[in-house]
Amino acid sequence: MSDNPAAELLNLVEQLEGWLQYQNRLGLAGVPRARAARPRPRAKEEAPVISLDQVREELGDCRRCKLSRSRTHIVFGTGDPRARLLFIGEGPGEEEDRQGLPFVGAAGQLLNKMLAKMGISRGEVYIANVVKCRPPGNREPESDETTQCLPFLLKQIQAIRPRVIVTLGRVATQAVLDTQTPLTRLRGKFQRWGQIQVMPTFHPSYLLRFPRERHKTWEDMQQVMERLAQND
Ligand code: SF4
Repeated sequence: MSDNPAAELLNLVEQLEGWLQYQNRLGLAGVPRARAARPRPRAKEEAPVISLDQVREELGDCRRCKLSRSRTHIVFGTGDPRARLLFIGEGPGEEEDRQGLPFVGAAGQLLNKMLAKMGISRGEVYIANVVKCRPPGNREPESDETTQCLPFLLKQIQAIRPRVIVTLGRVATQAVLDTQTPLTRLRGKFQRWGQIQVMPTFHPSYLLRFPRERHKTWEDMQQVMERLAQND
């Protein structure tokens, strides 16, 4: 500590004055002020290139693949059209086909529980499937069916522009990411679909069969919540 604080302060002022004169000679008019952080435009504030209504209209009474022959309803998807979180499953089951809504059967109940644990209501997210008509006997969609239906899901993603997509199960994960990499290698690690973060995890139907695996999906959802919080 100095014996003479007033002299020390005067010395500091003189040093500062000298530094400002030096800056002036360099052509700088003053001390640059810290630039206020400019809020980044949020993706969903920009106008989407296509709306969900337009995608639904384009889909129409779709007969593009053989799944149309046995369906009761097209299960287009449901939820907030501007959701920050989008869940994508494989295809409608029996109950979904009957009601025309995704994830309303037993797997849907488990998804609801997961959402409740995350503190998110179903109305805040959007839920869709890779194929929009029920594969008979709940078999996996065949490649020609996925090829016909996937473009509509991709347009739905473009319309919603969520921050994070959660792909539920192998079929949805491989279709969205356009990969043959096994789910076991992708699960729990963020991937990308353009600028959107994609978290592959288990399908709720699988978790109903193997409840001991549920903690892994919960760990994945915790990562999703952290990523959503970072993007706020
Ligand atoms: S599954 Fe998709 S492509 Fe096939 S008929 Fe249904 S809506 Fe059309």
